[in-house]
Amino acid sequence: MRRLPIFFLLDVSESMVGQPIHLVEEGLRTVIQSLKRDPYALETAHLSVIAFAGKAKTLIPLTEIISYYPPKLPIGGGTSLGIGLNHLMYEIDKHVVRTTSDQKGDWKPLIFLFTDGVPTDNPQSAIERWKEKYKRMANLVAISIGDGTDTSLLHQLTDDVLAFNNSNEEAYRNFFKWITASIRSQSQSVSHGSDALALDRIDDNVVSRVDLEKHPQRVDDNFVVLLGRCANTKLPYLIKYKKTIAPSEVIGFSRRSYNLVGGFKVDNEYFELAAGGAVSNQSINTEELVGAPSCPCCGNQFSFAVCGACSGLFCLGGPGEHSCSWCDTTAFYGFGEGGMDVRRTKG
Ligand SMILES: [Zn+2]
Ligand SMILES: [Zn+2]
Repeated sequence: MRRLPIFFLLDVSESMVGQPIHLVEEGLRTVIQSLKRDPYALETAHLSVIAFAGKAKTLIPLTEIISYYPPKLPIGGGTSLGIGLNHLMYEIDKHVVRTTSDQKGDWKPLIFLFTDGVPTDNPQSAIERWKEKYKRMANLVAISIGDGTDTSLLHQLTDDVLAFNNSNEEAYRNFFKWITASIRSQSQSVSHGSDALALDRIDDNVVSRVDLEKHPQRVDDNFVVLLGRCANTKLPYLIKYKKTIAPSEVIGFSRRSYNLVGGFKVDNEYFELAAGGAVSNQSINTEELVGAPSCPCCGNQFSFAVCGACSGLFCLGGPGEHSCSWCDTTAFYGFGEGGMDVRRTKG
């Protein structure tokens, strides 16, 4: 029985925190529900889910649809596309049966790569390895979520680079319907003996094809995500801001600022998936940030105390003596005027 291996390689870096990660989680659930009713998919498709941030992790090893349970997606620090790709190639080597002179192996694996950012590692050697050994024996579809992705990099991996730029719930639902339909048509296609890529019709309202020439590269800084650690629970949390360009009082100029999206509790898996420290050496001045949430872990009123010793971010209930939940240094915290620099996560 030749299987159709399908891999989801998912970017779970900080910028996915909040609604996007839940919508992807929910989306995968609906994909599975519908595939469980599709005779072709039930017969051939096997699914695997790999998450990558600073590190990569197999959440579900290659499993037949009928016994598949959709995973809960973690959030991790960083976007190491190179590490994600290497992990994918490792999983392909380990689980996909190759065709030899004695046996018919599995069908060409179908891979959906989702990413919403610019790699924080240098993925070039993994990309070269992919091009040399794997590109021809797999169908990879790279999907850029939002407009902050390095699509020219994705074009080195595959000709099939798609953009999903909407972010409301309805758009996500339609997008995952398209994923389901594509898996169905690929399953049908292999049952008729062909494993050429057979995606469902691409509707520009749902997802659009990215043409390398027509989209000059624009690497953008759409989100600022800060990492804090709750003083009471010691758990990490993320505070996410989205860029807005507001016209300034000075005519002809606009001012960049970041508006609060929300504060989100994350579990310790965040550190497990972060590589070499979760915080980058880039900082942002708090004057550019608009709004601050209460602590998403314990409800403390302020989530935005910055330690003078380690510049870590933690929560507190009010002014007074507090010790930093990162380095334990105790100091007096009042309400300062003016901005200060805080370190950003790697994205
Ligand atoms: Zn707290
Ligand atoms: Zn500290």
